[in-house]
Amino acid sequence: MFEIDVLTIFPELFGPFLETAFVGHARRGGAAAIRTHDLRDWATDRHRSVDDQPYGGGPGMVMTPEPLVPAIEALAGPKGPSRSAHVICLTPQGRRLDQARLEALAGAGGPLLLVCGRYEGIDQRVLDVAVDEELSIGDYVLSGGELPAMVLIEGLARLLPGVLGNPASIETESFRGGDLLEGPQYTRPPIYRGLEVPEVLRSGDHAAIDEWRHHQAIARTRERRPDLLDPDADS
Ligand code: SAM
Repeated sequence: MFEIDVLTIFPELFGPFLETAFVGHARRGGAAAIRTHDLRDWATDRHRSVDDQPYGGGPGMVMTPEPLVPAIEALAGPKGPSRSAHVICLTPQGRRLDQARLEALAGAGGPLLLVCGRYEGIDQRVLDVAVDEELSIGDYVLSGGELPAMVLIEGLARLLPGVLGNPASIETESFRGGDLLEGPQYTRPPIYRGLEVPEVLRSGDHAAIDEWRHHQAIARTRERRPDLLDPDADS
């Protein structure tokens, strides 16, 4: 079972997400155990504070080392080879999450502790003393790490054995192997607003269909994401 703990000041954001679709299926089927924890449970003052003003001035607040470090250490142990979970902080300054990283994390089998930032971010010393990896979901800034954590969880859940009804769908998807987008897909009706499903897909000739799909994948990748075909080319 793949175990994921999430540390957040908004555990309520995860409710329906953890019950629904493949993530809910993974939990109910025993492929994953996902628990949320309210960071404020580790706060020691009566306001349950988790943030303070930034040194050097500037807008907004910064998440303080306490209660964050004690919370991380309670859930994953102290940083080092014997800690019980790999600690990932979601931050726009992290390495960009991609399918290869998801597959590596799924293959490693967990457990993971996901740390969700809020406010203007997290005191650097938390990252230095308690976090193993920083991951970003893209070059844009959200208000918190909860949605990025859900992105990571959903991307992982569908890779766990027994979660997808048809595991073959993973094999043909975009980014599988890292270099091709999936080509166009069609379902019924055969003609919609004058647009016809390509004849080959209705032919029943599976070799021809495979070849057509492969060519479509290359053409679509060349058109939309040429950087995937030639990572050294200027984008
Ligand atoms: N001041 C920070 C900066 O400039 O890098 C941004 C802080 S952001 C407003 C607050 C929190 O949202 C971050 O600590 C992080 O947990 C989360 N977050 C925002 N954008 C994200 C992204 N693209 N990927 C992962 N986490 C993100």
